[in-house]
Amino acid sequence: MSSSLHLSDSITSIPLVGDSYAQKLTRLDINTVADLLHHYPARYIDRSLVTTIASLQDGEQVTIQAQVTDFKNIYTKFGKNLQQAVVTDATGKITITWFNQRFLEQSIRIGETYAFSGKVKSFHNHLSLSAPEHEHIPTHLETDTDQPNGVNIHTGRLVPVYPETAGVSSKWLRSRINHALKITTIQDHLPPSYPELYNLKPLTFALPQIHFPESKKSLELAQHRLAFDELFLLQLQGALKRHTWQQQHTPFQIHPKDTDIKSFIKSLPFELTAAQTSATKEILTDLALTQPMNRLLEGDVGSGKTVVAAIAIHATHLAGFKSILMAPTEILAQQHFQELQKLFNKTAIKVGLFTGSTKMEGDFDLTVGTHALLFQKLQTADLVDHNLGLIIIDEQHRFGVAQRAALETLGNYPHRLTMSATPIPRTVALTLYGDLDVSIIDQMPVNRKSVKTWVVPAAKRRSGYRWIDGQIAAGDQVFVVCPLIDPSESLKLSEVKSATEEFKKIKTAFPGRRIELLHGRLKSKEKDAIITSFKDHHIDILVSTPVIEVGIDVPNATIILIEAAERFGLAQLHQLRGRVGRGDKQSYCLLFTSTQTKTDSRRLSALTKYNSGFKLAEIDLKIRGPGQVFGVEQHGFADLKIAQISDKKLLLYTKQAAEDMINSDPNLSQEPLLKSKLNLINTPTITAN
Ligand code: ADP
Ligand code: MG
Repeated sequence: MSSSLHLSDSITSIPLVGDSYAQKLTRLDINTVADLLHHYPARYIDRSLVTTIASLQDGEQVTIQAQVTDFKNIYTKFGKNLQQAVVTDATGKITITWFNQRFLEQSIRIGETYAFSGKVKSFHNHLSLSAPEHEHIPTHLETDTDQPNGVNIHTGRLVPVYPETAGVSSKWLRSRINHALKITTIQDHLPPSYPELYNLKPLTFALPQIHFPESKKSLELAQHRLAFDELFLLQLQGALKRHTWQQQHTPFQIHPKDTDIKSFIKSLPFELTAAQTSATKEILTDLALTQPMNRLLEGDVGSGKTVVAAIAIHATHLAGFKSILMAPTEILAQQHFQELQKLFNKTAIKVGLFTGSTKMEGDFDLTVGTHALLFQKLQTADLVDHNLGLIIIDEQHRFGVAQRAALETLGNYPHRLTMSATPIPRTVALTLYGDLDVSIIDQMPVNRKSVKTWVVPAAKRRSGYRWIDGQIAAGDQVFVVCPLIDPSESLKLSEVKSATEEFKKIKTAFPGRRIELLHGRLKSKEKDAIITSFKDHHIDILVSTPVIEVGIDVPNATIILIEAAERFGLAQLHQLRGRVGRGDKQSYCLLFTSTQTKTDSRRLSALTKYNSGFKLAEIDLKIRGPGQVFGVEQHGFADLKIAQISDKKLLLYTKQAAEDMINSDPNLSQEPLLKSKLNLINTPTITAN
């Protein structure tokens, strides 16, 4: 058959795919021939055991080839119907029965031969196939059959089962994918040297075999090749961005005297942890270079990222340059402002705050602010012009795409430090943020007590409340986190509704206690007032929605109660838990849940055992997979259909391959196909879910 289609052609160029199907297929993100061919099976049914009627064994999953000698529809008393066929091969004869499949009448014709795949069952002492899948076997080769080279696609093999959508069945997809494979010219986007160099199968092998594998071995080879592709492309994108970044030159060389840095570190009210020290070293090394730093500082909530940032700001100041720090919310900006002012109170560093409600005017060495406002100011201010040497961005993932892009062009190539409390394992971070260097603080300050964590099932709710009330009587304060709202619902409204319901519930459960509600619909002034009041211990219980103010620092709040805990990811629960345990007192995290499923209890009990966000993220990745762990807007992960982000070996392997490629051909001028593939990939953003 002639190969006339190209991978980039529209899906409607495939025979029997009209506008109506095309529309349905967009729900599966399938628009082109390539999309269809990269719609990989979710699993396979093993129908490869082909046998004869005489040798059928009860319970086996088999395929037989037999001629239909009789077929009838039988109607039963209760409006039901069943279909019965008598089929024979050279060894014998059996009856096959289906239930409520009247349409079979049209596809099963007496006298024709079919392959039947199904489970052998004993029926009134006779062996039969129970509701088998059937596939026509042409007696002489017809031109437009489904069978690739006369081989079946629905029976007698490893049969692919696809993610479906309404009106698009696995069987239909199988047939169209098979057809498309036969008429499409598959051009491999990897260099011709790669199959040998990296021990990979070519795309012309991998695509047909991922759908219609000849054997388990060839399926594995196909999967490996396609997994390599996904990670390699992601890595290549990062390596390319990184290379571009490295071509830039920064006028801000920051290399203060060692003794000046040391004496600042000595002036701190505590000793740095080993992890803080090594992150600091990495940052200071970067700041001295002529290439602008572009580094991610990752560390659990409470691991002490701020002070590491402060050392960098201090060094920048010593070199005569300014810094700005952007926070995603007003409250966090204020907290940073206060904390940094304290840290710098013995230095000459002047700290300013710029948010919606506080706009300090003046010439500051460090300006702390919310991203939106500060950004507005920066576009007009001369701050950016000459001496902005360092930009620090806290919780980068909470910034919009446009803001992030704008940040990249801000100033005259200042150094950039991005901070994140989302604990992503190093190899994964290096893949998703391939353009960044990564420093990890994987250690908590020594004086920190770990938060005691309990899972509280529905039956124990009352006694849980009673225990909390006792703690409040003894002077403790409590956070209550409302259930996470399904993001597909109209977010803010349902969020407020759920928060208000929770608020009522808590008020009833704790009569006489001082309780307030915090949600995204409140004005920042109102929010601030509530948080200040909570800090000043005029509130016993603060009910809040999950998304706001993860970083709130209230040392006397020692209990956090999380409703419907199973709806959260482990990393997110861990971050929420980080709101308590900030003082000297023992703190507690109560995970309320009514879930009964094994997976949920496994995940929640992991929280009672582990205190490291990195460890928990790894566990969650294994149990739920990256798509769920890191959220829907996570394009980098969404593109991973087949590769395991937890596959460290392949991550490292593909990273090396990508680096080698960029080193030898930085602009990919030899690889136009590969380059055009890259343009289709979105840069990932991370949110723990
Ligand atoms: P995060 O990493 O969540 O931003 P912070 O920087 O806010 O954490 O630090 C949390 C708290 O720990 C702060 O009160 C800070 O002063 C304190 N802290 C930071 N480093 C240390 C340390 N090495 N020893 C003791 N306390 C520390
Ligand atoms: Mg912080």
